[in-house]
Amino acid sequence: MLTDTHTHLYSEAFAEDRNEMMQRAFAAGVERFFIPAIDSGYTEAMYALERNYSKNVFLMMGLHPTSVKKNYEEELAHVEKQFENRNFFAVGEIGIDLYWDKSTLEIQKIAFRRQIQLAKKYKLPIVIHCREAFDEIFEVLESEKDDNLFGIFHCFTGTLQQAEMAISYNMKLGIGGVATFKNGKIDTFLKKIPLQNIVLETDSPYLAPAPHRGKRNESSYIVLVSKKLAEIYGISEEEIAEITTRNSKEIFGI
Ligand SMILES: [Zn+2]
Repeated sequence: MLTDTHTHLYSEAFAEDRNEMMQRAFAAGVERFFIPAIDSGYTEAMYALERNYSKNVFLMMGLHPTSVKKNYEEELAHVEKQFENRNFFAVGEIGIDLYWDKSTLEIQKIAFRRQIQLAKKYKLPIVIHCREAFDEIFEVLESEKDDNLFGIFHCFTGTLQQAEMAISYNMKLGIGGVATFKNGKIDTFLKKIPLQNIVLETDSPYLAPAPHRGKRNESSYIVLVSKKLAEIYGISEEEIAEITTRNSKEIFGI
């Protein structure tokens, strides 16, 4: 059984064929889907997805760093309100993204820290989005480090040293399509990271693994990531599936 720890199944990219896409994922052995939030514009679509696939879909709630804009206080209030009304399995995806917009760094940091504190309050994991912002993310994690801080560094694409740093903050590494890219780099050192620190993800509809690179991604393609990890670690795909699913249960508590 495979677990996709990060997949945007509610995305408009699946508007035409969502059910067929889900059936392909089930057929590929993917049974657990953890769904990161982006902003209030997607909340209803996430709840609808959960109603349709209630046994398999597990929702997170949070404000994505690229959606941290002038109205971020309202957006954070929306996130907090959802947590008051119901349960989620993580606060995510949250973090810092300096690729799309450097001018919002200060408010991105504020939003990141506030949501880390929210996760601690509910004793939930955080799911981190980091793009060109390792130093900034580690700075916030350092100041928030304690027994209640844990989670996943989603779509991990850093160096071995950054991987070890992330693990030191109680984070598992979310590994997806990038591990299959020719110039992805992480495949060159991943073997040095014990598998207990790894979870699988697709980040679909983004970042499709080879040979679908550049096309729409979907959760069934996680098999290609699992195959690559089996090669890297020199064990069977079944073992990769079992260990990474167990790791996901440790993080999400389900
Ligand atoms: Zn994502």
